[in-house]
Amino acid sequence: MTTRRPLVAGNWKMNGLMGSQEDFRKVVAGAKGLREKVDIMVCPPATLVRQFVGSSDGIVEIGGQDCHAEPSGAFTGDISAEMLADLGARAVIVGHSERRAFHHETDAEVWRKAQAAWRAGLLAIVCIGESRDDRTAGRTLPVVGMQFEGSIPDVATAQNLVIAYEPVWAIGTGLTPTPADVAEVHGFIRGRLTARFPGAAQGVRILYGGSVKPSNAKELMAVDNVDGALVGGASLNPDEFLAIARVYA
Ligand code: PEP
Repeated sequence: MTTRRPLVAGNWKMNGLMGSQEDFRKVVAGAKGLREKVDIMVCPPATLVRQFVGSSDGIVEIGGQDCHAEPSGAFTGDISAEMLADLGARAVIVGHSERRAFHHETDAEVWRKAQAAWRAGLLAIVCIGESRDDRTAGRTLPVVGMQFEGSIPDVATAQNLVIAYEPVWAIGTGLTPTPADVAEVHGFIRGRLTARFPGAAQGVRILYGGSVKPSNAKELMAVDNVDGALVGGASLNPDEFLAIARVYA
């Protein structure tokens, strides 16, 4: 298990209505007994950020799922890091594979979004991970390395950066890499951190994401350099999400 303070973050994606407050309250209630050991975060859709901040009792941190690189302007439908911070969010996910795939976000854009997060005082959770084709072709480490170099700005610290390694083929599929594969990629990312940010590298948390469930969380979270999880589908069920966090209890 990690020696860093673990983080279990739930990415609700485009799920949740005002009535979801009930589920969030269950997460807050369950997180009370866990917060000494683990940071727990929920990233709801932007429409629920304010409401969830208000009922988080300071126990569960709230994050956004994406932000625009600019602080304001003529960008219809977008939300800035400053707006998320204004609502009380503490973090924002940038470079999620669904943003990279459906919105054609490049590493350069993710870099700018991470900079925007820091400009607004938010923790940036930067997602990187290979596609199924990349893995099959043996390109996992070069691809992850390229995303790492291209998506993470130069002023990263242990306080402002969390990396989420999320193999695209594992997201929402029920498939997961073997613990040995996870160890290889997380060790590789730690190495890249050490090369680029020697003073901060040991403190930066590297989350694993991709079909994390209560049934596999223990095994995945026990892997070297895995400092928590970014959880999609299972985070929509408070009992499952809390069961994953309880791995650190
Ligand atoms: C995600 O979308 O970040 C994710 C990890 O999803 P899931 O847990 O559903 O695979």
